[in-house]
Amino acid sequence: MNFHREYLSTHKVSGAIEENMRISNYKWCQLLTFFLFLSCAHKENPQRPFYYGNLYYQQAGEVKALYHQVYNLAADSLKSKMKKYHGTKACVILDADETILDNSPYQGWLYRNSDVYTDRTWDRWVRSKAGVLLPGVSGFFQVMKDLGVSPFILTNRRSYLIDPTLDHLKALGISLERSQIIGRDKIHSKKERRALVRKTCDVQLLIGDNLSDFSHEFSDNRVDAVQENKEHFGRDYFILPNPMYGDWIKHEGRNGLLPGNF
Ligand SMILES: [Mg+2]
Repeated sequence: MNFHREYLSTHKVSGAIEENMRISNYKWCQLLTFFLFLSCAHKENPQRPFYYGNLYYQQAGEVKALYHQVYNLAADSLKSKMKKYHGTKACVILDADETILDNSPYQGWLYRNSDVYTDRTWDRWVRSKAGVLLPGVSGFFQVMKDLGVSPFILTNRRSYLIDPTLDHLKALGISLERSQIIGRDKIHSKKERRALVRKTCDVQLLIGDNLSDFSHEFSDNRVDAVQENKEHFGRDYFILPNPMYGDWIKHEGRNGLLPGNF
């Protein structure tokens, strides 16, 4: 009998302890959820600073107009240069990304997934062949073809992505030989790759979205270098807009916005 009473009393106590533990566990879970929510709420999307740049590039009519403007001017300049050219090896050097191909959906994917650029996701994007030609590109390639001018594409895509890029461009109506597109693995600097192209043909003009697509002179003091090279722009250097990424972020961008004093 005593044993039974003792059993009941112990059982009651352990039940109360279990109940307390259950409440305590529940509170811990609530606390954990709250802190998880707080940590998620404060996790900054690394693409947030680029949101409006990406949006402008991808959606603004002004950007489409700028591409047409640059490619129309480049076509006029090329036609006028070819009237005076009597050789047989005229060529044009173009960059690929954000010059020929629109990769802004990749930037949109990074934003939506709060992710940063990695070779892994970039390779997947390139191999998906989902990028489209930028405005004015196909017309300009037709002008080059009509004038007998060879395009050479110098891209910072790695060499193993060149074959998928060639297939992609072909599907978009631009057929090139393997030798007409040079990736960055074997020779990293575009300066050396430009020199290689210049050995095989007479470069009439260069088109890109980064100053480094034109000359190594833009590697330092870029703003001053633009001033010193101002005669080239719109004549043999044709620059396209890229507010999404580029060397400008590493250089001019690090200074932040200049406040007006008034
Ligand atoms: Mg580019």
